[in-house]
Amino acid sequence: QQPMQQKMIEAKVVLLGDSGVGKSSIAQRFIKNIFPDQYDVTIGGAYFQQTISLSPNEAGGLGTQVKLHIWDTGGSEKFRSMIKLYYKDAAAAIICYDVSDEKTFQSVYYWINQMNENASNTGEGANFVMALAGNKCDLDPAQVKIPLETAIEVAKKHNMIHAETSAKSGKGVQELFKKIAEKIVISR
Ligand code: GDP
Repeated sequence: QQPMQQKMIEAKVVLLGDSGVGKSSIAQRFIKNIFPDQYDVTIGGAYFQQTISLSPNEAGGLGTQVKLHIWDTGGSEKFRSMIKLYYKDAAAAIICYDVSDEKTFQSVYYWINQMNENASNTGEGANFVMALAGNKCDLDPAQVKIPLETAIEVAKKHNMIHAETSAKSGKGVQELFKKIAEKIVISR
């Protein structure tokens, strides 16, 4: 019997969200499984890659391998000329906010607009994969300003995956990227 061929898919994922919400920390947690005390402020942006293996009974069957190319803006999205490059050929975006900071949740609309204007395949019936990540969910519940239900509602309205993450504890981070990988496989 011939061994079944594993499918390998590559996809670019961009990290969006206000400065300080934890984008770099989420990337570090996902790639290296660490939470750095001191992490160089990303100035020109950062790039990482990580492969996720989906088991045969998950999306795509045959145990698809999904190699994610992750782009962290590090504020470079402020430079108009970088925006196009940043979104070029992206298959997915993760918009991050800080669950303890209302301002960063209000900015989610800004990021959704920027994404819709610059990414291809967004909108009705399109296959651009979008996620909304409420980071710092390790914080004391008293510090949490954005109710989970509110965030879920916004995510639903914009056809986004919703996740609560903590780059600090690691909670929800692997799961988030796995859901994105699955949705990318399904939507291709
Ligand atoms: P970025 O500007 O969006 O890339 O954010 P950073 O990754 O640089 O994180 C900003 C600050 O938030 C840093 O001081 C991090 O240590 C902190 N931080 C990031 N993720 C978490 C988290 O999940 N929980 C907590 N408590 N702090 C976090």
